[in-house]
Amino acid sequence: MVKIVQINVKGFDNNFSYLLIGKNNESFLIDATGSKEEIEKTILKNKVVLVAQLLTHNHPDHCELIPYFESKGAKLINFKEIENVPFAEKVVEIAGVKVRAIFTPGHLNDAKCFIIENNIFSGDTLFVRGIGTTAYGGNDALLKKTLEYLRTFNPKMILWPGHDYGGTTSTLKQALDNSHIKPGKKARDNIKKKVGEYEKVRGKKY
Ligand SMILES: [Zn+2]
Repeated sequence: MVKIVQINVKGFDNNFSYLLIGKNNESFLIDATGSKEEIEKTILKNKVVLVAQLLTHNHPDHCELIPYFESKGAKLINFKEIENVPFAEKVVEIAGVKVRAIFTPGHLNDAKCFIIENNIFSGDTLFVRGIGTTAYGGNDALLKKTLEYLRTFNPKMILWPGHDYGGTTSTLKQALDNSHIKPGKKARDNIKKKVGEYEKVRGKKY
């Protein structure tokens, strides 16, 4: 069974990185971002080797540490090949763990969710309370379709979001039932301000 470590990496805005630990002390990251120190501390504490990394979507606050961990030998698997038809998917095995990547556009045109055992890693597609904005390269109609598609999965699945917006984890059903919740004006203004700063320092796309 996979071990999931949710790392509060701060970053842009209460971001999460995830360390997934599989067989033979091998591990991989989802969304390497925020505090490098927190991630490295978690890797050391669990005495694991990092072999790969995944990315939920190409917003700078989710991928800023990809080059750093690539330089440490963790290859990025970016699933570009499924980014054509919505809900196309591909299964790979990393560290003995089966990862099902699903193309779930909406929040961004390259967004993916990862299903691992009874867990879904949703990036900014779905939070514990609310959904990611489509204001930065997204599409409302596609996001609506994606959320409808997520309704077809086991409602008891555990949701692991990309940010702590209203909670760290919940069931998929609880999150979908909360998906109508909108952030307040203060939160939206705050994001707008920070996005401007982030885009200025943005490096390459993945
Ligand atoms: Zn995003």
